[in-house]
Amino acid sequence: MYIGSIDMGGSKTIVAVLDESFRILTQTRFEGHEKDWRIHFDRTVGLLRECCDTLNITIQDLDCLGVIPPGMVENGILLLAPATGWRNVDMCGEFFARTKIPCIATDCDVNASAIGEADLDGIDDFFWMNISNGIGAAIILDGENYPGANGVSGEIGHVKVEYDHPRPCPCGQQGCTEAMASGAAIGRRVQETAETDPGFRRKFEEKGLPVNAYGASVLAREGDKTACALIAEAGKYIGRAVAIALNVVNPPRVFVGGGVSQSLDLLLPYIREEIEKGTVEFARNVPIEQSRLGYYAALKGAAAIALRAWKKKNG
Ligand SMILES: [Zn+2]
Repeated sequence: MYIGSIDMGGSKTIVAVLDESFRILTQTRFEGHEKDWRIHFDRTVGLLRECCDTLNITIQDLDCLGVIPPGMVENGILLLAPATGWRNVDMCGEFFARTKIPCIATDCDVNASAIGEADLDGIDDFFWMNISNGIGAAIILDGENYPGANGVSGEIGHVKVEYDHPRPCPCGQQGCTEAMASGAAIGRRVQETAETDPGFRRKFEEKGLPVNAYGASVLAREGDKTACALIAEAGKYIGRAVAIALNVVNPPRVFVGGGVSQSLDLLLPYIREEIEKGTVEFARNVPIEQSRLGYYAALKGAAAIALRAWKKKNG
């Protein structure tokens, strides 16, 4: 089986073909976006054809197509893509017109990734947390995403985890998890520390590491005390957020995805410490694991949602 998957971000579009086990058979991408969505869609379908060529198949051999939209989608219609300014685009209709492959557009990358996690091994109940440039989460109950009344359940990135020294959050509030412990927030803390501590900054230069969350995680693995302290701080904030989720949802397990999840082993002791302090006893003993989807979680999630729709239709 061949599943087409498209992750349309504001800064890049990734196109892939996967099999029914969500293995990526081939993928390609282009950076930036076209002003005119029609041209962008044509380019995207061009890449999909290239992927098919690589696999010696034609686009008609794809069984279904899943798309992560660059903004808010309702019934397959992209209402607004903030980064590109596109409005009211019938994503599924436009892709179907260009490919003749049944297409499903997901509501958001985090929810799609969580469905991918569920379908990878048939796990039905868990809390899925994505920590990358932003922080989002999904609640999977009986294998389905619980959307909430207005589709904004799981906004764990915007619970308050710091009251004394809160940082401003893109949502307009202060001290949210996203403002304190997203990949971008950790990166800012690393840069600030490097600016005031020349010895710390030199370590990045000597090792050719970027002065960001990833660079700090490499130094922390080598035992650098300052890097370890920054990781501990991020872990504390993430732990406070997870504690709230455990108290409210009481999930049987938690998966963490996104770039920062690569450092989950470093963060986990501090996450656990906050969970000990901040949860009721019976919500506490929950496995917290790194997502099994890896870096391309969204692509796999879009494929999972497309496959679900295909199975529904084909029995
Ligand atoms: Zn916020």
